[in-house]
Amino acid sequence: MSETKATNDWPQPYRLPAAEPYWAALANEWLTFQRCADCAQAVWPAHSFCPHCESAALTWVRSAGRGTVYSYSTIMRGPTPAWASITPYTVGFVHLHEDYYLFTQIEGEPDTIRIGTEVSVRFVRRGEQKLPVFAPTTTDPEA
Ligand SMILES: [Zn+2]
Repeated sequence: MSETKATNDWPQPYRLPAAEPYWAALANEWLTFQRCADCAQAVWPAHSFCPHCESAALTWVRSAGRGTVYSYSTIMRGPTPAWASITPYTVGFVHLHEDYYLFTQIEGEPDTIRIGTEVSVRFVRRGEQKLPVFAPTTTDPEA
């Protein structure tokens, strides 16, 4: 049962107050981001005003959770025992189809991950918090 114990020791992410709706939505397995009502640009990380046009008209919207790998790095030695227990693992930026970038864990054999790989979100529990991770999108075989 040591594996179960290790997964209870995940360092918990720092929660910026402006991003509280993001963390609340994750509990329901919704991936969300902000969109500006004035210039229509996606905004991430969470802001209290739009970094593109300075509007305060930001709304939270749900992402479809699909994107492509923009950059990645495979970690061979974890920074804490919990992370070390899953090495090697890959982290990086995913470029979501809604046109914002999310730093996240990317699942899959390191050899199979490439820049531009299509990935989709799924949710994992890490301690008290559900977090989004991405894995290569499985394409339905042609009928
Ligand atoms: Zn704007």
